[in-house]
Amino acid sequence: MQALDALESNVRSYSRSFPAVFSRARGSTMLTEDGRNVVDFLSGAGALNYGHNNHRIKAAIADYLASDAVVHGLDMATPAKLDFMELFNSVILARRNLEYCFQFTGPTGANAIEAAIKLARKVTGRQNIISFTNGYHGMSLGAMAASGNRAYRTASGVALSGVTFMPYDGYLGPDVDTADYLQKVLADESSGVDCPAAILVETVQGEGGINVAGREWLQAVQAVAKSAGALFIVDDVQMGCGRTGNFFSFEFADLSPDLVVLSKSLSGYGLPLSMVLIKKEFDAWQPGEHTGTFRGNNLALVAAMAAIDLYWRDETFGKEVLRLGEVMRHRLETIAVKYGNSFAVRGRGMAFGFDCQTPETAAATARGAFERGLMVERCGPVDQVVKFLPALTIDCETLDHGLEIFEQALNQALKRTRSS
Ligand SMILES: *Cc1c(COP(=O)(O)O)cnc(C)c1O
Repeated sequence: MQALDALESNVRSYSRSFPAVFSRARGSTMLTEDGRNVVDFLSGAGALNYGHNNHRIKAAIADYLASDAVVHGLDMATPAKLDFMELFNSVILARRNLEYCFQFTGPTGANAIEAAIKLARKVTGRQNIISFTNGYHGMSLGAMAASGNRAYRTASGVALSGVTFMPYDGYLGPDVDTADYLQKVLADESSGVDCPAAILVETVQGEGGINVAGREWLQAVQAVAKSAGALFIVDDVQMGCGRTGNFFSFEFADLSPDLVVLSKSLSGYGLPLSMVLIKKEFDAWQPGEHTGTFRGNNLALVAAMAAIDLYWRDETFGKEVLRLGEVMRHRLETIAVKYGNSFAVRGRGMAFGFDCQTPETAAATARGAFERGLMVERCGPVDQVVKFLPALTIDCETLDHGLEIFEQALNQALKRTRSS
């Protein structure tokens, strides 16, 4: 651990939240160098929906490496890329009556967001992007301009421009329909809000505190985008790839986004892979207009193919995600009621937030959970929400065990904060 202090920049973060050296991992369990087992409800911030070192995906990667097939080829054609596109198109898109072409971007979610907003600006000839309170879209300047977090924005060091923030679903309380407000502002020639190139939305805000947008609200926002002549972009970086029980997080609301951004769990193995799905009529790119050295890395594409092949050929897996999600919701709501304090449980599919109301309680709970063998992260405007993103492939016993540890840690944290 000394190397951290001596050699790694002060910017490091997760190694502070989870002070251990992690040497191995399988499924939902990580093993520390000193022999502790830790249940993982962090899942690489949503990059490990199918668990750590999923052995069936690993077999595909190992075969690919053993065959000396092309690992890095910029965006040249390879069998891996062609096969991936065909599989994704037939198993994921065609069955949902979706038609998109694929843009492989640099490997981070932020790069794919940059590509999406750049394309929307190019298509419309407009600059303004509508984003939402508590939204998070990544750390590069364009993506950060569309992200709400003040501390992150300040750290950018330059003016972040080209984005107008609108209240997310529920932001002004249950009685205010913020989609109505958005509609009004965009229809009003004198509202002061420039015509948007795009409306960029997460259907569940992951970093922002597991804020869940409703079906009608999302449909209304999509309709507003259409009537305003703006592209409708869903950032499915964290909530896509099965997290909410469908492959795409917007399926439950029957949306048809103009652009969809995917990353985190797309490769299924924690390998970096990002892409933008583009409705063909909006594919206004000139050849090479948005490039990057690591676009569509072949090893990641092979892993992504294995994940789709294993989990998405029929509806069994998605149904199991919804079932486990209900187990989580029930348990977390029971805990919320038991310990009082106006705790709130929010979520959809297998993404849940337990709003502790205060950052102190959330911090003490997460810390205590880690000491007891559970890794959970915090989110929300002041990190007051404990976030649950277990692997979608987790078994019931491990899920129960993790939730049990959470309850013990919360109980302990409350004893401490209530007695002080
Ligand atoms: C993580 C995340 C991003 C950014 O992805 P990076 O790979 O960290 O750049 C963008 N949008 C959402 C919703 C995310 O959760």
